[in-house]
Amino acid sequence: MIRVRGLNKQFGATPVLKGIDLDVHAGEVLVVVGPSGSGKSTLIRTLNGLVEPSGGEIAIDGVVTPANDRKAWQRLREDIGMVFQDYALFPHLTVRRNMTLAPMRRGRLREAEADAEVRRLLELVNLAHKIDAYPRELSGGQQQRVAIVRALAMKPKALLFDEPTSALDPETVSDVLAVMRDLANRGMTMVVVTHEMGFAREVADRVVFMDEGVIMEDAPPEQMFSNPQHARTRAFLGKVL
Ligand code: ADP
Ligand code: MG
Repeated sequence: MIRVRGLNKQFGATPVLKGIDLDVHAGEVLVVVGPSGSGKSTLIRTLNGLVEPSGGEIAIDGVVTPANDRKAWQRLREDIGMVFQDYALFPHLTVRRNMTLAPMRRGRLREAEADAEVRRLLELVNLAHKIDAYPRELSGGQQQRVAIVRALAMKPKALLFDEPTSALDPETVSDVLAVMRDLANRGMTMVVVTHEMGFAREVADRVVFMDEGVIMEDAPPEQMFSNPQHARTRAFLGKVL
């Protein structure tokens, strides 16, 4: 579903991604871990066109996006959903409008079916009663669940998550993780940057350890957590587990 080859990114003279190769198969859940500043956010932001790479290519579902084709990079955003740490809901729009704005504009949701679809999606996250609420009237965990189903409303081929629970109160973290686990069980292709090692252990098909702009290690969770191959991986996991 996602194939990354030789992906590079520099900010000014500073290389941040140094030749990333990565494959994510349809229905797979990939968890990305690594120290702060290792390039995790930059990597997943390039996957949906928010960051333009300096070199390399990404193919989504067989469609190749070369590094220098800006239009093609922007189209990535329509096929690959993204969920951010800070939810990024539009504060002046209701839950309903937050969910319908982009898909209606992009022709992925027709007016006539919008209401039923929004309700169906909100029911998945037990928030149908909040359809006319504004983001400020919701808890952080509720906002994040809306952000997840808002991404689903675009019918994405894959969903990316950048530390989706890092800003949440501890008691709402599990609600959001439960939604993500449910999506994984339904076969959604997901790339998740997180420090929730319990989630990685239970839900990930593979865990990738990033360090200083490279993928140091890529393994199933049982291997990554019980028998990491590199000293850097061991040192990192020693601190977070
Ligand atoms: P992580 O998500 O693993 O913490 P990031 O991808 O956010 O890492 O950042 C990797 C490196 O790139 C850091 O050194 C960061 O300061 C730098 N960086 C990220 N975004 C930008 C930007 N827009 N401009 C300049 N430097 C950036
Ligand atoms: Mg980050």
